Amino acid sequence: MYSKYKAMVLSCIDPRFQPIVFNYLNKKKLKGKYSSFTIAGSAIGVTSLKFKKWHKTFWDNLETSIKLHKIKKLIVINHQDCGAAKILNGKREFQKYENQIHKESFKKIKKIFKKKHPKLKIETILISLNKKIHKI
Ligand SMILES: [Zn+2]
Repeated sequence: MYSKYKAMVLSCIDPRFQPIVFNYLNKKKLKGKYSSFTIAGSAIGVTSLKFKKWHKTFWDNLETSIKLHKIKKLIVINHQDCGAAKILNGKREFQKYENQIHKESFKKIKKIFKKKHPKLKIETILISLNKKIHKI
């Protein structure tokens, strides 16, 4: 069985989370129905000024996938213990700021996405280290 819509999935390059993301999308019946865009930090990589050079590439690819594959939804998957979040955090206590960094990246990506594509949907997910999926 397949999902009725196609999606683009934005996720992080971290090897530990590839099977979790893959299994989650299979469960959602999205096998063969999504484009994959994988970049360090996922939403952090495409919104934080630390990684400014990457932003345009993401939005251009999203644009292309919307045109070519008629996608209707962007699924954004961040994860805990992310190296990109640590780079952004700098010398502050990571445990204290980690969730805030993810939430801010979700807020930013939603704002830009809704402005560019008001008719399309966006979903933001954080995977914890114990492999649990949290919709945010
Ligand atoms: Zn990561």
